[in-house]
Amino acid sequence: MSQDASSSHDAIKETMILAGKVLVAEGQDDFTRGHISFRTPDNPAQFLMKPHSVGLDEITRDNILTIDLDGKVVAGTAKRHSEVFIHSEIYRARPDVHCVLHTHPPYAVALSSSGRPIRVYSQPAALFYESLGVYTDTINLIRSAEMGAGVARALATHRAVLLKNHGVVVTGTTIAETVIGAIMLENAAQVQMITEAAGQPAAEFPRADVEKLKHDISRQEQFGINFDYLVRRVKRREAGR
Ligand SMILES: [Zn+2]
Repeated sequence: MSQDASSSHDAIKETMILAGKVLVAEGQDDFTRGHISFRTPDNPAQFLMKPHSVGLDEITRDNILTIDLDGKVVAGTAKRHSEVFIHSEIYRARPDVHCVLHTHPPYAVALSSSGRPIRVYSQPAALFYESLGVYTDTINLIRSAEMGAGVARALATHRAVLLKNHGVVVTGTTIAETVIGAIMLENAAQVQMITEAAGQPAAEFPRADVEKLKHDISRQEQFGINFDYLVRRVKRREAGR
């Protein structure tokens, strides 16, 4: 199920289709907004991406587009997302990134709007400890290479970036890592918003403790196990079991 940089285009597309269904099941959908992409292993200057006008759970082998680092469609006939530049500019800036995901999950949007940094009030938050950028240039859609480059600069070497009053961009080396990362970020933001709304949170655990947890939950194997579980759950629901 989990793919890596050596996977074929077909295997990547299959995992991307399942990822879209998992993301919708986990509340990461917002009408037809939100998009996921994966860098093609045989050509690092191109990537496969969900098309415009369909939901994350409506990705098919035939509607996935192949796009280059200028945001130009090189294969496929579906409509391209105007925010393609989030993906192209991150792939240009970060050779280590193979998957990019952009969604608008409500608690993460709320956290981005608060202007407050992420706090380690829960275990999922540790994944983003000192690894979450903030993009504050605009609330608008990222519709140019220049704006995409701004998002890539805000991401810097981090795992993810909050787009203020807009959404999240999460990166990874596999689709599993990226999807699970987005779900964990939303969970962390939810706990933080509840905690801060309740007021007077107690001190976080010391840096060394948090760093150990971050290391332990950053393992590729663990992302794969949890992604595969969510895929099985989606399939059970589809089968009515
Ligand atoms: Zn957006």
